[in-house]
Amino acid sequence: MIPYGAHDISELDIEGVVDVLKSGLLTQGDKVPAFEQALQNYTNASYAVAVNSGTSALHIACLALGVENGDIVWTTPNTFVASANCARYCGADVDFVDIDPATRQICIESLKHKLLVAKEFNKLPKVLVVVHFAGHMCNMKAIAELVNQFGVKLIEDAAHALGASYLGQYKGGCPAYSDITVLSFHPVKSITTAEGGAALTNNKALAHLLRLFASHGITKDSQNFVSNSVAAAHYEQQVLGFNYRLSDVHAALGIMQLKRLDKFVEKRAALAARYDEELKDLPITLPQFDPFSAWHLYVIELNHHDRDACFEALRAKGLGVNIHYIPVHWHPYYQQLGFTKGQFPHSERYYLNAITLPLFPALTADNQQYVINALREVLRD
Ligand SMILES: *Cc1c(COP(=O)(O)O)cnc(C)c1O
Repeated sequence: MIPYGAHDISELDIEGVVDVLKSGLLTQGDKVPAFEQALQNYTNASYAVAVNSGTSALHIACLALGVENGDIVWTTPNTFVASANCARYCGADVDFVDIDPATRQICIESLKHKLLVAKEFNKLPKVLVVVHFAGHMCNMKAIAELVNQFGVKLIEDAAHALGASYLGQYKGGCPAYSDITVLSFHPVKSITTAEGGAALTNNKALAHLLRLFASHGITKDSQNFVSNSVAAAHYEQQVLGFNYRLSDVHAALGIMQLKRLDKFVEKRAALAARYDEELKDLPITLPQFDPFSAWHLYVIELNHHDRDACFEALRAKGLGVNIHYIPVHWHPYYQQLGFTKGQFPHSERYYLNAITLPLFPALTADNQQYVINALREVLRD
């Protein structure tokens, strides 16, 4: 089976991990700060807080922005459930903004309209979570200018976008326009730490809060202690935080992987260009051309074939095709909260025709040709 995504581990990556296991601390050592520094250097964000998953990073991002019971958080239906769940962890209500079918990302016109209506009914969200779907950057400048007028804070779910460039200045989200940018290092993403994630920000106070929430709400910096009575102690718990720390074993893998990230993205872009060329005559909609994408996913939309039948036929030919994404509001958990099918028609129509083709740095030319041939055969039948 050719999977839709896969990690790429080198001998040097393995050596980096083994070095930590042989010497040094397994957690709370110097590898996590070194990984955070490397992430800052690469992405051009002022602060990076590494954590044990992208989902944890989304959770602490919401907490740092003060999301709580009674608040509202918006995202798009065309994403992984974690983009919405983070708000639910904080007791907030979730709502969605439909996608633009051309970009498959949040539709800025719909966003504008929904903000105006929400303002009138005093139902503005505290935070909007935008998703750089498939590794293509959203128009962050336009989105930030719009939501700033309404006092809405901005989280970028950049789980797909590490390595995508924006304004020629940023290479994993755009912390200049968002409050917090979230990354994931799950094995199918741009780089991996097995499980892992990070929150990036250019705001010092937010960086402090992110760190606090990721480690029990505890600070060890006596200059930040709020209580006199424990001034002699080593640490002080100030808020209710979690243990979301990344280990040094995982960070060591991240440090080695990050060195190869530009090569990974180049490889993904070359594979995407080959799909563009080889599939352009088929009755399918290809992803939009984007020279700055991190190319996390290559999603085609069938124009007049039965998606489920094609999906099964491709699976039967040994392709690990996938579907990104079941609209979040279609999941039973969200249906039970009151969402119904038909509410976000662009996300739903897109989903019903979408198939994700294999795309990862180690995909060989032969295997890609096999994918292309298999797709041609299935669409011909
Ligand atoms: C992978 C992913 C996440 C969650 O990341 P984990 O590291 O798996 O917790 C969040 N949002 C999106 C869009 C993702 O693809």
